[in-house]
Amino acid sequence: TPFQPAKEVVILGAGVIGLTVAYVLSSSTRSKYNIKVVARDMPDDLDSQAFASPWAGANWSPIGGFEEKKHKREIVTFNKFWSMIPTGMVMALPSCVYYQTTDNLPDLWYKDLVRDFRVMDPSEVPSGAQGGVCFTTISVNPEVYLPWLKAELRARGVSFIRKRVQSLNEAAAFAGANGILVNATALGARSLIGVEDTNVFPIRGQVIIVDAPGVKEFVSFPLGTASVEGEATYIIPRPAPLGHVLLGGTFQEDNWDVSLDMATARGILERCTALMPQLASKETRILSHNVGLRPARRGGARLEVEWVDLSEQYSPALSPTSASIGRRVKVVHAYGFGPAGYQNSWGAAEEVVELIEKD
Ligand code: FAD
Repeated sequence: TPFQPAKEVVILGAGVIGLTVAYVLSSSTRSKYNIKVVARDMPDDLDSQAFASPWAGANWSPIGGFEEKKHKREIVTFNKFWSMIPTGMVMALPSCVYYQTTDNLPDLWYKDLVRDFRVMDPSEVPSGAQGGVCFTTISVNPEVYLPWLKAELRARGVSFIRKRVQSLNEAAAFAGANGILVNATALGARSLIGVEDTNVFPIRGQVIIVDAPGVKEFVSFPLGTASVEGEATYIIPRPAPLGHVLLGGTFQEDNWDVSLDMATARGILERCTALMPQLASKETRILSHNVGLRPARRGGARLEVEWVDLSEQYSPALSPTSASIGRRVKVVHAYGFGPAGYQNSWGAAEEVVELIEKD
């Protein structure tokens, strides 16, 4: 076979979406790729509130109405994470999810995907909720998982460049003459010149990480059951370090405030302890109070190809390199996954790679 040079792909963004795209792309058997991840925040910047990925639960537990495309991504992701349980980075997580209705619970779309699914008997449902289901799902710990992804990618020859780019034009300069861009900038897509997507908005999430070795079960109460709007109650035990549990939380749309609100924190502790009294044990220790912004998008996540004419881009402060001036670049957008970036990550990454490989 004739020599085929590696195709250049620049992935903008090093959150769970950009990293998983890099992982799936570097596993491709169809072509060899020269992959660069260009990002302002890196996977080991675990204290940066400028990106969402360090702050997630992160478990797999579908929310919202039926949407076929999204569910395909969630199915792929569930199966991938389930297969990773033996690595110790993913944990099988017994779960109880409560609803303010009993309608359709026996027919939830994921009932045959998760393990041990059953509808709860009304006598098992605590006051404040109408119905509930139990099943076994998975959780990952971003503090372990993100650095692992980065290390894997480096071992595969993926390069990481720390840079905040202002425009697609500037990003394309990293990609060589026929390179492809992946836009996994999440909330950054609002102000990235050439994208400027005003449908992107934050959903503020405040949570508490505790060390509570006895807590082994995911429990979730729906929005609207707390007395303050935008508050929900959920408890997510994590794999390694064992005993770490995330207590949540808030879902405050269009709220960009990443500062801590201690009244909110007290409310979270009270609601979670009422739901799971063993949290009141003397052994429970607060490890951190966290605030993160979920990168949501009105109309749902954007995952599609756009051919962008860079010559039309208005980025006067930059001096675009000759590589990017006056050419059309293939951009695969992958952003706006809101509260579910982890649980969509492997499915979304497979779709992005299909779009990269499609001529
Ligand atoms: P991000 O992690 O925000 O990464 C964006 C990347 O783009 C960063 O590297 C950033 O620096 C870079 N970037 C942006 N603009 C530019 C620019 N101009 N130039 C260069 N780089 C740029 N999800 C789940 O699936 N399950 C959960 O249980 C869960 N729980 C959550 C709980 C909380 C409290 C929060 C806050 C989120 C939760 N999420 C959960 C959501 C999840 O965290 C996000 O959906 C996911 O992290 C989004 O990943 P991303 O890669 O799209 O974006």
